[in-house]
Parts: sequence; structure tokens; C-alpha cells
Amino acid sequence: MSQNIQQQIQQLRDELREHNYNYYVLDNPIISDYDFDMKLKQLQELEAKHPEFYDANSPSLRVGGEVTKNFKTVVHESRMYSLDNSYSKEDLEDWETRIKKLVDGDVMYTCELKYDGASMNLTYENGTLVKAVTRGDGFQGDNVTANVKTIKSVPLQLRGDYPDKFEIRGEIVLPIDGFLKMNEARIETGEEPYRNPRNTASGSLKLQDSAEVAKRPLECLLYSLKGRHLGVDTQFEGLQKARDWGFKVPSEARLVKSIDEVLEYINYWDEHRHELPYEIDGVVVKVNSFYQQEELGYTAKAPRWAMAYKFKAEQVSTRLNEITYQVGRTGAITPVANLEPVELAGTTVKRASLHNADQIAKLDVREGDEVFVEKGGEIIPKIIAVDFTKRPENSQPTKYITHCPECDIALVRQEGEAQHYCPNYNGCPPQIIGRIQHYISRKAMDIEGLGGETVALLVNAGLISNYSDLYELTVGEVLPLERMAQKSAENLVNGIEASKQIPFERVLYALGIRYVGETVAKKLAKHYKSIDALSNASQDDLVNVDEIGEKIAESVVDFFNSEQNQLIIERLKRFGVQLELSAETLANQTNKLEGETFVVSGVFETVSRTELKKLIEDNGGKVSSSISSKTSFVVAGDKMGPSKRTKAEKLEIPIITEDEFLQKIK
Ligand SMILES: [Zn+2]
Repeated sequence: MSQNIQQQIQQLRDELREHNYNYYVLDNPIISDYDFDMKLKQLQELEAKHPEFYDANSPSLRVGGEVTKNFKTVVHESRMYSLDNSYSKEDLEDWETRIKKLVDGDVMYTCELKYDGASMNLTYENGTLVKAVTRGDGFQGDNVTANVKTIKSVPLQLRGDYPDKFEIRGEIVLPIDGFLKMNEARIETGEEPYRNPRNTASGSLKLQDSAEVAKRPLECLLYSLKGRHLGVDTQFEGLQKARDWGFKVPSEARLVKSIDEVLEYINYWDEHRHELPYEIDGVVVKVNSFYQQEELGYTAKAPRWAMAYKFKAEQVSTRLNEITYQVGRTGAITPVANLEPVELAGTTVKRASLHNADQIAKLDVREGDEVFVEKGGEIIPKIIAVDFTKRPENSQPTKYITHCPECDIALVRQEGEAQHYCPNYNGCPPQIIGRIQHYISRKAMDIEGLGGETVALLVNAGLISNYSDLYELTVGEVLPLERMAQKSAENLVNGIEASKQIPFERVLYALGIRYVGETVAKKLAKHYKSIDALSNASQDDLVNVDEIGEKIAESVVDFFNSEQNQLIIERLKRFGVQLELSAETLANQTNKLEGETFVVSGVFETVSRTELKKLIEDNGGKVSSSISSKTSFVVAGDKMGPSKRTKAEKLEIPIITEDEFLQKIK
């Protein structure tokens, strides 16, 4: 029986690994997402029931969950050099001359794309990933293994005839599509969008909660093998082998015979780089033969056998016609440069962000200026400088607006913040419309039959001025609106009615409290259980909730301090919107463990670790990952870590068994 289950688990793991490889490395899935999820679920259930078959490299662990407080510094076995840069044909020809003086015979070159991401060194032993370390200063970096394991294109188990032990180097990148989606979500919760994919990728690797990393669409592109007895003699062969072993090695690499061919490759990708799913900032050229590489060796800073060719940042100059100001849903003001349309990196650019007042002052940018626009590592084009030689004589310094362009109220700027805000929360049209649009959006109240444009029409017609007004709309009132027919008017009213069934945590997200995104809303709903309890919570009380920081706490308190918001919430309550957890959800929750903090360690028999943690939280307790003087109990299963046991004993924290714990909540 147990033999069968072990086989079954093994088979599922193998299958899922194969599908992961097809999907993330080859970009060629052969089963549907649904089938994949079903198999994964099946594996997770079996693993939960049979912890004795635990495997740190199981595909089920891709979802993360391990929390790292401090990343350990690790010394690289061989130094991670940076590369010398070149910018022209002449630079490359000089390089070739130097090479030819040092090695005999023909030299071949491998050309690869230079990915703009965070460099990474992966160590594999017997086909499994044992360590992932950032580049750091080249000599030592941070151990980020738990986070890297959540990246689906990093194989946890290799295929084929791999060497016993080796290192492989590559770059963690955030593809442009994924980057844009992450920013959409941030803008929705009123947070500043990320500036560029590279910084976001390297920032992701340093997140403490690997489950958060797992949610980010990171990819790992590999390019260099290190180690003895690799069974390969050239760089190009190394790339092919790595691909066979299951690594994601982009297929754009080429083996060429001369610097002229290198230049052809460079020119091609300089022109076509925007067709790639991720950003590159140049090309890396390497002497192909490992034997020749060894002969060439290293300078103090870089290998003599490799050269990076950096593309020029694409830049054009154009006229800045006008600076306008946008007001976001949260009241944040963004200055926008309206440009004379110009071609840049394959698209027509008409607008560029100026970020904030400081940026405008720093550049001394003015209407009528000729400006240089660049699309470097950033997705949104930006103005990098003014061509002062072309500044018109009558030019006047830019005066940043002092009043809201939409409602004419004086703007405020909090100390330490770069952005100006319009404080007219209840009277500024883009804020009013933006908040209602957020309320009805798919992840919030998901109101069918009502779209963003209709919201604007309803507000402009004076029919609604906040989201609680939606619930009083009648078919007769909306029928006269543009493009509205009897049927669509009825759908709209019915859709609003149906939203009264949306559960509390989503309503909480829909309210549009600044910094309260989906995850935070869930946390708050679970902790406070009702809007009344939440609105009475003090800032101190809020920061004691797991993962709620000062910024969120302050924003929540501010929201409920507003009399207007209190009135709106009273109305929502009257209309029957869900403002507390449902009886069904509450039935499974108690306060039996209130005020108690638990650390869970080891393998359990009747419940899985995840279930155990859920039981603690559902009964009002708190789960912590490390033992401290604040820990009330350690729930210990089989194979509890010895260092945890010592620590618990030293701090005299009671260690209880799984059964003893279950008794507590009976
Ligand atoms: Zn305003």
C-alpha cells in the first residue's frame, strides 16, 4: 500500500516536472492549465497525507512559503567577474587584435543576448538544485535559494546526463508583460508603479516571504557553466548541454567565425530587441573554445576572453508642447510632458512622464523646450535632458501647479513625499469616478452590466457621487443615458443588486482604502471579522496584525476617521452589502487561542502543517516562523529541528504535541 502511494507520488512529481519544463522552458505546453492544476492538487493532497515522502525539490513546493529574515552571505567558489564593455566596431576590432596576440589558431565567437536582470549563480549536485546565490560584489553574494526555487523555469531536478556537481550562471529577469501587469495592480491600490523590470527583478529576490516571490512572473535565463568534468569544450556546446539538462537557455545565441559576423549579430538585435519578451541592453561575445579561454585568462577585473557590447540607449529629441497634470484615483498628481509626436524604439511617442515637481526642477524643463527623450531600461519614455542651445528667448521657468486642475482646490505635499496630492477627496471628479470604477471592478464587486465609462456618465449626470449611491439607481434613471437601452439598464440594476452577495473581504478591497490591496483586505477581514470592529481599531492595534505596517495602519485609520466615509458605510449596511464575515465562515472560527503565538515544527500525523497553521489562525492564534520570548507554544511533530528544540528549552517555552494542540481547540 505504502509502496503504491510512494510510486504514485513519484509519478505525479515526474509528470509535473515534465509539464513545467514544456511550459516554462520550451514554451510549449502539452496539457491544459486546468489539467495541470488538478494533478498538482492531487500531489499536494497525497503529500499532506504522507509527509514521510517529503522531498525538498517536489514541484508542489514551487508556491513558496519559506520565510527568510536575513539572507546569509555565501562566498562564490569561483569569482563572478564583470565584463569589459565596448561600444563600437573599433572597440571590438581592438579586442580581437589583443586576442590574436595571445592565442594561436582560428578563433570562433559565441554571441549571446545581454539580458538586463539580476545575475545569479546556481549550484547543482546529483541533478538537484542545492544553492542559489546572487552576484553580490563578485566575491560573495546572498543565499536566496528559497526564493529562486519558486521561479518555474529554474529546474529543481535535472534531466539527461548532467555532471555530478557544477555551477551555472544566468540572469533573473522580469518579462515586460508581467512587469506591466504588476504595475497595473499597484496603480489600482494607489501605490507608486515600479520604475523598471530590472530593479523589480532584483528587489523580488530579496523579499522575505518566498510565497510573494512565487506570485511574480520571474524567469531565469542561463548562459555559463562552471566546474570540472563538464563534458563540454566550448561555450556554444555548453549552452546546448544546459538546454538538454532542462535549463532555459534562449535560442538566439549564435556561433560565428569573425568580428564582422559578430557585428552583424549586434546590428540585427539592436534593431529587433523590442520583439523580445524581456529587455536586453546589449550583446555578450565570448571566445568559444574553453581551451583558448584558459590561455587568455583574466585581468584584475574581467576575463580577457569575453566582451559586452552595449547598445546605445535609444534617444531622440523633440519639442515639448505642453506640461499637463493628471489626477489619479487616490488624488496623486502626475505631471505629463505632451510632446511633438516622434518615433522611438519602434513606437510613436507623444507623452512622457515627468514624475513630480522635483524632477521638473532638476531638469529645468519648460514648455517650448527641445528635449531628449529616452527609452532605456524604463518602459515609459522619460525626458533625460533639455537642449538648452535651442531654448526660445522668451522662455519662462515652469511653475508647478498649486491647485488641482480638475477641482481647483489647493494641493498638498506631505513631508518626505515626492508627489503632490489633491485633498478634495469627496469633491474632485477624477477621484470620485476613479473610486467608483475601482469599486465595480472585476476583483472587487465585479458588477456585471456596469463599465468604467458608464460610471463617468452617471457621475457627470449627477446621478451618483459615491459607490453607495449605486444601490438606489433605478431603471428609469439610467435609461436616458447615452447608449442605454431597456435591457442594458435592467442588467445594470440587476448587477448592482447581485453585488450584495459579494463576501466581506472583497467589499473591503472595493472600498478603495489606500494601500489596502486584495491580500491586505483578506488579512484585515479575517482578523477583525466586521467593518465595525475594523473601524474602531486604533493604529497600534492595526500594526499588531500580521503583515500590517505603519503605512497601511495610518491609511485605514484615516479612512474611518472621515465622517463622509462613515455615512457611506452606514448606507452600504442599510442596502445589505456584506460588511462582516458570513455565519458560515465564522462558524469555523473561535477566539480560543487569542493572544497566543505558536511556532510549528516537524512533521505531523493527523493534519498537515498548512492545516495546522490554518487551525491556529482560525481560532484566533498567531503563527510565527521563529522561536522568541514572545512564543507561547511550540507545536512539535516528528523530526522537529534540534536547534529549535534547544532554543525553546532555553527560553522555557512549552513544547506540545499535535494531540495536545488539538485538545486545546476542541
Ligand atoms: Zn482635485
